[in-house]
Amino acid sequence: MAKKISIMGSTGSVGTQTLEVVDRFPEKFKIIALSARSNIDLLEKQITKYKPLAAAVLLKEKALELKNRLGNVGTEILSGKEGLKTLAAWPDADIVVVALVGFSGLEPTLAALSNGKTVALANKEALVVGGELIAAEAKAKKATIMPIDSEHSALFQCFQAGKKNEVAKVILTASGGPFLGWNKEELAKVTPSQALKHPNWTMGAKVTIDSATLMNKGFEVIEAHWLFNLNFEKIDVVVHPESIIHSMVEFTDGTTMAQMSFPSMLFPIQYALSYPERWKRSYSQLNWDRKRSLNFLPPDRENFPCLDYAYWAGNIGGTMPAVLNAANEIAVEGFLKNCHSFLHIPAILEEVMNRHSAIPNPSFAEITEADAWARKESKSLLQK
Ligand code: MG
Repeated sequence: MAKKISIMGSTGSVGTQTLEVVDRFPEKFKIIALSARSNIDLLEKQITKYKPLAAAVLLKEKALELKNRLGNVGTEILSGKEGLKTLAAWPDADIVVVALVGFSGLEPTLAALSNGKTVALANKEALVVGGELIAAEAKAKKATIMPIDSEHSALFQCFQAGKKNEVAKVILTASGGPFLGWNKEELAKVTPSQALKHPNWTMGAKVTIDSATLMNKGFEVIEAHWLFNLNFEKIDVVVHPESIIHSMVEFTDGTTMAQMSFPSMLFPIQYALSYPERWKRSYSQLNWDRKRSLNFLPPDRENFPCLDYAYWAGNIGGTMPAVLNAANEIAVEGFLKNCHSFLHIPAILEEVMNRHSAIPNPSFAEITEADAWARKESKSLLQK
């Protein structure tokens, strides 16, 4: 029977690649819901092609425009945050793919889990800001979270080689981004267009900048903590510039399992949707008939301090990771608009975290409040 899929964020990078996977296995899937922030041109094309039962647009005026354009096509159009929440909990869905960016993914993720849906999660920020709430909701409703992030998909696959209590540690691989090996003076002059050129992966703008600062790897450390219930001292990071090994699990007997594939998000997306099965490959494969070297080196924690800020926030817990995430969203946005330098990104994160006293075991309201506070604080720091 076809799996019924909802995609939250269907016009973004992971959303469009999810539809690419769906297109390769048309008999295995039925798209029942789609959502976008504001790109109604693409969403309109997707609705015409996949004929979902419902679609949501975050920006209300855009939702209205889309409604007028579509007329009577049989797809219910929802709008705003409420619309996204309703869509995430849509009764017919088997799997909800959450491919939203930033804090905005938390509420729809919780809505899907509280309705017992399997969530295929690409939105790491949801776990960074609300990991405790998400883990508790998934447990209470016995709902499954399938990781789409390539590193966490790799860990999930490696875990299958042993038992939970046989895991000594996990090692997340990082490409090191476009500025691997650069010093402070070089980093001070980085432009947004340089930072947007990732050597191995094609991704959205936000995550590409986060990869350049190593904030993305830091968030993935927190993501691994919540997804797999691992202490932070059991989560390591190694730079692996070729992005062939997507992460590794070291077991207590000293054996390390690594998951490898060509660096493309199509692999982890397909696995999240096909699990527990594996379906016939139709993407580029690794060639072993030529010389290939895989390199590993420790991360440069001094010039890329965002990685350690994530361990710092993660160990404090409570509202601190939400504050780190919010400050980062504002700092990245400012950098992309050429308002400040690349090195201002970590500087702002450090300052805003220093000014925050974390609330332990926060409610959704307390997380939202901490998020709003950190955004305001970051903006005022940036204006100085
Ligand atoms: Mg990743």
